[in-house]
Amino acid sequence: MTEQLTNTMDKLVSLCKRRGFIYQSSEIYGGINSCYDYGPMGVELKKNIKNLWWKSMVYERDDIEGLDASILMHPRVWEASGHVEGFTDPLVDCKKCKQRFRADQIDTTQGCPNCGGELTEPRMFNLMFKTFMGPVEDDANIVYLRPETAQGIYVNFHNVRESSRRKLPFGIAQIGKAFRNEITPGNFIFRMREFEQMEMQYFVSPGSDEEWFEYWKEERIKWYSRLGIRSEKLRFHQHQEDELAHYAKKAFDIEFEFPFGWNEIEGIHNRTDYDLRRHQEYSRKNLLYFDPETKERYIPYVIETSTGVDRLLLTTLANAYEEEEERVVLRFAPAVAPMKAAVFPLVKKDGMPEVARNIVNGLRKYFRVFYDESGAIGRRYRRQDEIGTPYCFTVDSQTLEDGTVTVRERDTMAQERISQDRVLEYLMERVLI
Ligand code: ATP
Repeated sequence: MTEQLTNTMDKLVSLCKRRGFIYQSSEIYGGINSCYDYGPMGVELKKNIKNLWWKSMVYERDDIEGLDASILMHPRVWEASGHVEGFTDPLVDCKKCKQRFRADQIDTTQGCPNCGGELTEPRMFNLMFKTFMGPVEDDANIVYLRPETAQGIYVNFHNVRESSRRKLPFGIAQIGKAFRNEITPGNFIFRMREFEQMEMQYFVSPGSDEEWFEYWKEERIKWYSRLGIRSEKLRFHQHQEDELAHYAKKAFDIEFEFPFGWNEIEGIHNRTDYDLRRHQEYSRKNLLYFDPETKERYIPYVIETSTGVDRLLLTTLANAYEEEEERVVLRFAPAVAPMKAAVFPLVKKDGMPEVARNIVNGLRKYFRVFYDESGAIGRRYRRQDEIGTPYCFTVDSQTLEDGTVTVRERDTMAQERISQDRVLEYLMERVLI
């Protein structure tokens, strides 16, 4: 990694803390490894990313329903899914410096990447967090924090299908927390132990799965333009035989070029009928689907699209971050920008603050907006650039004469005047998700 790239990450991390995007969890106690808290700007950015995904999956289509399943599930779910047995990573320790690595991420023949020391034999380590339900801590009461949201969708497939009177093909979308006891968390919020996933499982008839796989692969990469991600920063990576998860017939990752290199941000998987078939076997419930057109009964195939909210938030930040001569600017797509607009009175007198506050009050019902009357106007613009606010409106002496305000656009810094009555409409046209 070059020094300059490391620097970009360092600068991003420091901006995130300074401007209230992301803090280390329990910071006053020295933090807890790989857990993070989202501050006032981070929580808005996160919500907007989730809304954009939900809107494009659920609202804008007529073949996908939403779901919010619980984090704790019956422990048999994780036996059926294969996670108890197979959700493991190979762990090696350096005998000399004691550092820990994932054996599949390093060249173990070269010894420890840190100090060259001898490594232990790989041990398989299960990534699921275990805990106990109820007051008795024995094996009968073990439950797991879900390592993926997908299983909540599979076990509810027939509930959702029946209550929404669906025929195949249709999908179920869910956003929720997932937990993985990662061996080597890191790169800020790229790999965390507690994170949020956005997953959509699309149920199709066997035989149509390959076509739907191609469809979702294309749909998903296209979606990133709505998030404002530059297309040259995205690419596909196809899983080879030895990379495929135990349930997958075919898998592609969408990768983004982070300052620390190309890495996965989303997986598109053909999970075949593996999960539903296993749930049928373990639950002994009939999970067959009756196809009213062909009159056949079968277990549907599943095409999964799975991405992480936190990882997309980091993607969005890394993609948006730019240093110019006189300013640092986050060029977020307006739809996900935490603050949609800022309104300033040029000076704190002559009734300008009242006019500006009036404008803000008219916008608050629809958007997160910011009112700022402190400091020089140039500094106020810079502060908004740093949190990626796409539009700033300034009330000045001309406003008092003709009712127009200045709009200053973040990316070009160009300014124009519009009527103060048009501010809401102006924003509606540009920043709505
Ligand atoms: P890896 O091989 O890097 O551990 P994975 O292939 O197991 O990842 P998936 O199970 O496909 O990851 O997870 C789907 C998505 O969930 C990922 O593309 C990523 O966006 C997100 N995700 C997975 N693990 C984490 C994590 N530890 N922290 C943050 N996001 C994660």
